[in-house]
Amino acid sequence: MDALPVFLKLKETPTLVVGGGDVAERKIDLLLRAGASVTVISPTLCEAVMRLHDRQLIHWIAEPFHPKALANARIVIAATDDRSVNRAVFEAAGEKGIPVNVVDQPDLCTFTVPSIVDRTPVIIAIGTGGASPVLARMLKARLETLIPSAYGRLAAIAKDFRDQVKQALSTVTARRTFWEEVFQGRVAELVFAGKDGQAQKELRHMIEHADDATYERGEVYLVGAGPGDPDLLTFRALRLMQRADVVLYDRLVAPAIVDLVRRDAERIYVGKEKSNHVVPQGEINQLLLELAQQGKRVLRLKGGDPFIFGRGGEEIEDLVNQGIPFQVIPGITAAAGCASYAGIPLTHRDHAQSCLFVTGHLKDGSVDLNWQALCQPGQTVVVYMGLTGLESICREMVRHGLDGTTPAALIQQGTTLNQKVIAATLETLVDEVAKNQVQAPTLLIVGNVVKLHDKLAWFIPESPLAQNAAIHEPGRGGNDGL
Ligand code: SAH
Repeated sequence: MDALPVFLKLKETPTLVVGGGDVAERKIDLLLRAGASVTVISPTLCEAVMRLHDRQLIHWIAEPFHPKALANARIVIAATDDRSVNRAVFEAAGEKGIPVNVVDQPDLCTFTVPSIVDRTPVIIAIGTGGASPVLARMLKARLETLIPSAYGRLAAIAKDFRDQVKQALSTVTARRTFWEEVFQGRVAELVFAGKDGQAQKELRHMIEHADDATYERGEVYLVGAGPGDPDLLTFRALRLMQRADVVLYDRLVAPAIVDLVRRDAERIYVGKEKSNHVVPQGEINQLLLELAQQGKRVLRLKGGDPFIFGRGGEEIEDLVNQGIPFQVIPGITAAAGCASYAGIPLTHRDHAQSCLFVTGHLKDGSVDLNWQALCQPGQTVVVYMGLTGLESICREMVRHGLDGTTPAALIQQGTTLNQKVIAATLETLVDEVAKNQVQAPTLLIVGNVVKLHDKLAWFIPESPLAQNAAIHEPGRGGNDGL
């Protein structure tokens, strides 16, 4: 960080602006909004600044700059188009230790004035250290549209009730949870709807009924992180990722997604890469429970969808038994993500009227599936964790009635920059896969819809970036889908 953002209280504080033109006028306006007492030193004033003077909102010294003008000033802003004057202001202020800002000359500034989103008492300051005021203004425009103007009123109400909440709730955790509920719940909605009186009533009611135990209770968010591309997260997933105190994640979750979790949240990796060694499922369940019992907001981040070969059900069972609140957030499952990004519609009026998701995970060394059900006409079969058993899956499907020429594709690391689609047939897929160096995770899709890949493929990454990809070995040992 090149500078520390601070908010200066300038009410009735003497400040000096050197220059009386349009640029000076914008700075004067800001200083006046902050309640400062503004003196302008400049031989002449533009019309707008003259009007401020006529209305007695500023003092005017109608002279060229001289260091004596700095006598009382607590900060000074130079906004002249004369570089030598600007430098003289910078040097004189430096001698007196007065913070100085020279407009558009970052090297002559001991402080910079940020772009501001004003929702008083909430103020958002955006600074680029003088690198690009245009960028700061663009960011400001985005924030302006993002943050309801009523936030100012909401914050003002919160301020009035702060002490009462402090008395009602004794711990920091409880108070934080309480306020989050206020800002995300009914009170905020009422303020947004312009019903400030009712909002205050509601807040008073909440305070009367507040107790530490209620607000100190932890909770668990079981969140589907999708197949890899961070853009495929849901809004809700992202919101909870920003709320969590601690996150438990494993190999199937792409690093780019883990990066989106709140910066100061504790991160616990529960899938170790070496020798496919992982934290046993029972321990993960226990950990979720213990962390929530400590009052934490625990994020359990799972690849794809938590309820599709994700053991999501098992992970929340203990929580239900212990009365810990939880939410389950669906994610885009690998079948949907890979199929879309590979241009393979899972159903199609001409080719497939149903679609089956199955696990190809080996059980006792053999793939144990209901082959009869899998090998029906007009159906797409998606096999998760099917790489190790690929050969026997393809063989059994032909043995149970599917034609050897049935299209089949293996999709490697679908939706990521490492995506690769190997499209072949049940007879040829194993050989085609052997020719390529395939990296897990991979998904197998079997059925006539796979033919459409040739025509509909649209996501064709040019430069596979191995480091961005989720790495997950199929088969036993993973935390997902066993
Ligand atoms: N809950 C997850 C599935 C977990 S099982 C979901 O809904 O997607 C793990 C298997 O999912 C992997 O072995 C692989 O078959 C599949 N998988 C997950 N992400 C994938 C991806 N990006 N590309 C291909 N297959 C993927």
